[in-house]
Amino acid sequence: MPIVFLTNMPAEREARWREVLARALPEEEIVAGRDVDDTTIDPGAFDIVIAANPPAEALARFPALCFVQSLWAGVEQLVHNPALPPDAPLARLVDPNMAQFMAEAVAAHVMSLHRDHGHYARAQAEGRWAPEPAVYARDRTVGFLGTGELARACMRQLAGFGFQRLGWSRSRRDVEGVETFAGDDGLDAMLARTDILVNLLPLTAATRGMIDARLLAGLKRGAALVNVARGGHVVDADLVAALDAGQLREAVLDVFHDEPLPADHPFWRHPRVHVFPHVAAPTDPESAAAIAAANIRAFRTGGAIAGLVDRTRGY
Ligand code: NAP
Repeated sequence: MPIVFLTNMPAEREARWREVLARALPEEEIVAGRDVDDTTIDPGAFDIVIAANPPAEALARFPALCFVQSLWAGVEQLVHNPALPPDAPLARLVDPNMAQFMAEAVAAHVMSLHRDHGHYARAQAEGRWAPEPAVYARDRTVGFLGTGELARACMRQLAGFGFQRLGWSRSRRDVEGVETFAGDDGLDAMLARTDILVNLLPLTAATRGMIDARLLAGLKRGAALVNVARGGHVVDADLVAALDAGQLREAVLDVFHDEPLPADHPFWRHPRVHVFPHVAAPTDPESAAAIAAANIRAFRTGGAIAGLVDRTRGY
């Protein structure tokens, strides 16, 4: 049965992706969503969807679908799609290349916050020579929301600098050299010791809006935030208020409620917010296609699918 590739990408980028996917799966027929009507194939014949942020209604055209492979790590736009049959497996992308790319981005942001680059950029703009007292990495604590695939790669990357590393997740997990926490009490305990908070949670009903006034107030005064997960985790007004009150000293934001970030959003002009246009860890087409191909072959042959999403938990 043929495979349909569904995405919201512009046509040219979609065509490039389709080529990479076709190379990775030469034995399969892969049709781009926008081309389905130009073929003689009945939409009811497609059994597998390869998905990269498709519009919500796109899945409903394919009544026989029984496996969805996402090309993104986050699946919040797919997991509760009513057109996804309850027993159809949904796999998200778990890609070591992506994890390494995320680790680079988080290391860059953490080092920039650790070495006060925001302060020196503001001082330069005002022509001020303003050295700050040195703080050693061993005296700085980096706390992670999430201890999943991406967070663990970031924790490993930061190990060599000597930061104290903490991690919080739903179920407590052992991570070498990292003090880990779980549950509400665990979160409060971690926040109270955190100088730089890195968010790598999935966006679910339980995590949406959790970076709010209460959470930010629980951090050490003058802590910093790095959000590379999803914009929906943050209550934007609470973040701005925490920055203005000095509770938070800087925020590095890679993800936003609306992307592109609207031109009139206060984040653009806030002197302590550093805006990045969702570039922390883009999917690498070559490695993602190879992972998708391995999963699709596993699905066809009854093998083990990597990155299976628990649809009740939402990630
Ligand atoms: P993952 O392996 O599924 O890890 C998720 C982690 O979050 C796990 O440790 C999980 O806890 C924890 N968690 C989930 N719900 C929780 C809750 N309610 N309370 C406490 N902990 C909770 O995910 P990942 O591959 O690391 O990816 C994380 C997110 O990064 C993705 O969902 C995506 O949104 C984002 N992302 C962003 C970019 C970018 O370019 N900015 C790129 C890729 C991904 P358990 O271990 O107990 O399950």
